[in-house]
Amino acid sequence: MTDLTNNVLAEVAARRDELVALTQDLVRIPTLNPPGRDYLRLVEWLGARMQARGWQVERIRAEGAPGDSDAWPRWNLVARYEGGRPGDCVHFNGHHDVVEVGEGWTRDPFGAEVVGGRIYGRGTCDMKGGLASAIIAAEAFIAAKPDFAGAIEVSATADEESGGYGGVAYLAERGYFSPDRVQHVIIPEPLNKDRICLGHRGVWWAEIETKGRIAHGSMPFLGDSAIRHMGAVLEEMERSLYPLLAQKRTDMPVVPEGAKQSTLNINSIHGGEAEPAPGFTGFPAPCVADRCRIVIDRRFLIEEDIGDVKDEVCTLMERVKAERPGFDYEIRELHEVIPTMTDRDAPVVRSTADAIEKVLGAQPDYVVSPGTYDQKHIDRIGRLHNCIAYGPGVLDLAHQPDEWIGIDDMVDSAGVMALVLAELL
Ligand SMILES: [Zn+2]
Repeated sequence: MTDLTNNVLAEVAARRDELVALTQDLVRIPTLNPPGRDYLRLVEWLGARMQARGWQVERIRAEGAPGDSDAWPRWNLVARYEGGRPGDCVHFNGHHDVVEVGEGWTRDPFGAEVVGGRIYGRGTCDMKGGLASAIIAAEAFIAAKPDFAGAIEVSATADEESGGYGGVAYLAERGYFSPDRVQHVIIPEPLNKDRICLGHRGVWWAEIETKGRIAHGSMPFLGDSAIRHMGAVLEEMERSLYPLLAQKRTDMPVVPEGAKQSTLNINSIHGGEAEPAPGFTGFPAPCVADRCRIVIDRRFLIEEDIGDVKDEVCTLMERVKAERPGFDYEIRELHEVIPTMTDRDAPVVRSTADAIEKVLGAQPDYVVSPGTYDQKHIDRIGRLHNCIAYGPGVLDLAHQPDEWIGIDDMVDSAGVMALVLAELL
């Protein structure tokens, strides 16, 4: 190993306690999303911490973004550190929001307790531990090579868990990820320290509504049941759509294995009378359902065209319509994301693979995520294709009770990220 490699890794190792403390401080600010609690508090605290260590810091509120209000403002932080000479900019992007706590915890979800080499708490793994590792990696690298070429940026962004529109999408629309400003992006999401995530599958969300006619439940023949019509739609999905999706396999290295094919989830179904209010003890009224709605979540592959994905569902609906008297429906599109996959030869991929080999002594696994994350905005709005997700933490622990991150894993990942900087800058 070269002197620089050794110096960089020594600087990371010397910051182990600081890395733990930084993660704990971030976890103790409960940035729950929804609703978007304490975003400003986190951004101000982290901004002040980084400013004191020489970073130029910008605090950006995503005004007008979905969810932004004076009660729940969507605050983001972008910190930049200029090197001594011109060169590329490497950007680390971590979301600062965390999902709800949920049931089943045996530890304080915002206590950030250290037990047996792990830090416990909501957001340790997804992904305040990753964000802290990136910051420590950058500071260790700067200490080892103060005259580096180019610049380093770290952003802590809002709302990844709810689509990223008040976070990375807002920044990308304002040029923060444009290729003349940033050349390499690493998102330290928890994907295990030996895996490089190249991208994600695509998404199409839609709401399908079947229509009926209300009537007295004792004389259903005077009405038309939207629920029975929806039953026919679901039956047709079982008969023709699910088998079709199971046959569509991808060459993308998606994990887990089950996500190497097209998938469809039915997120919800609502028909007829609304659910009774909690505590209501009366009986329901006898009515024929005049509408029934489902929300579908279709995940598609890089080999598929989004137009075909939509056509499959529209054709299915038309087929049911042709067979069922009185069948009427509507499809409302809710949301779509095109699949993305960074090339294995992209500079940020190659340098991360080299760094993993140096730190862990093994070749990395290349993976693609079954669900999307903020790379979609960097790719589509920012037009920057040299982007990966790489960070510490076990993916399966995200959003779980007793979420934790391993301190050794964070130190190793910080070492990898610091060596990526050494190679690229
Ligand atoms: Zn995450």
